[in-house]
Amino acid sequence: MTTISRWRLGVAVALVRLVNEASRRSGRGTGTVVGGTVGLAIDPSVLDGLSRGRTTILVSGTNGKTTTTAMVAAGWGDEVVTNDSGSNMPAGLVAALASAPGSAAVLEADEGWLAEILARTRPAVVVLLNLSRDQLDRANEVRQLASRWREALADAADVLVVANANDPLVVFAAESARSVMWCDVPTPWLADAWSCPHCTRALVRDPTWHCTCGFARPLALTTVLDDRLSIDGVVLPLNLDLPGRFNEGNAAMALTALHAVGVDLHGALSRINVVSEVAGRFALRRWGPYTLRLHLAKNPAGFDALLPSLARDGEIWVAINAREADGRDPSWLYDVPFETLRGRLVRCWGDRRLDLATRLDYAGVSFAIANETAMTGRVSDVVSVVANYTAFREWLTRTRPC
Ligand SMILES: [Zn+2]
Repeated sequence: MTTISRWRLGVAVALVRLVNEASRRSGRGTGTVVGGTVGLAIDPSVLDGLSRGRTTILVSGTNGKTTTTAMVAAGWGDEVVTNDSGSNMPAGLVAALASAPGSAAVLEADEGWLAEILARTRPAVVVLLNLSRDQLDRANEVRQLASRWREALADAADVLVVANANDPLVVFAAESARSVMWCDVPTPWLADAWSCPHCTRALVRDPTWHCTCGFARPLALTTVLDDRLSIDGVVLPLNLDLPGRFNEGNAAMALTALHAVGVDLHGALSRINVVSEVAGRFALRRWGPYTLRLHLAKNPAGFDALLPSLARDGEIWVAINAREADGRDPSWLYDVPFETLRGRLVRCWGDRRLDLATRLDYAGVSFAIANETAMTGRVSDVVSVVANYTAFREWLTRTRPC
């Protein structure tokens, strides 16, 4: 590093801290993006500089990034730098890394930015959870994304990949890497990987998947069993505070990544077991007379994983917006298996509650259009609230901790 580039990096980092502090103090923002943007404008390689000398784990995929990142951070222990605000593009990563000096970092990476983030942060480990349709109006076609990951991983010589062996698109992306720890984790959503990414023939599922061209599910090092995990021959009991089979899979992949950087599995698991909420997800909240448990789901695969884990009693409230951050096209609601909610009452919230109600009507699910001013009832059961991105933020603001 030349003296000039070292000087420029120092100025950029100082300004990131200054701008973020000012942003926080003025109440205009949480200071997680604006400072990073300023830093990148002064030194386009600020992310490279801030990553140097750290052991970094990246987490990417369509669903479960924030939760898995939080699990890695918890399992690693103290002094871990992380972008827990959910700002997962370069500016957010710069802001997170500039805020703390720790030698260990776990960073959630937007799946569309993974190639650049990989090249700049030079992580020890990258965790690839899954790939499925998301934000129909603007996101890349999911196979294009898998191809871009594949190219990026072929170029990243030193990275160890922890990848979901049950998602054919993730396997296609990760098989170009030199070193992969494959994970057999619950992956119910198959609708984006019916055909082979190599030859386009239909994949055979019996019950695991393969193609007649030879592309097949790799042997897994990590396996999620009924009530325990097996990682590299070590069997661990599963006792998570967080609900759902999908969170068992997230924990398995988080632990595999930590094992790869030398963290003791038993200690890490005991710290992950007590994680009870992640940025408001899975948290119990109060709203008037109601006790709510908040869940985030923002695409068909996310709903598919979440719906079976909802409490069996009580109302289900679903809140759907279709703003910029959600994707403007809500037609993905037709890919969500709402039919599994037959026999339950679903209250429809959000800007697009009428679209949701129409979808539930086709699915044969009882529904009511929510009207905030008419919500005066007293309920004893915990209400399960499932909201997509901006709707979730609204529910988090509207409610208070129990
Ligand atoms: Zn094939």
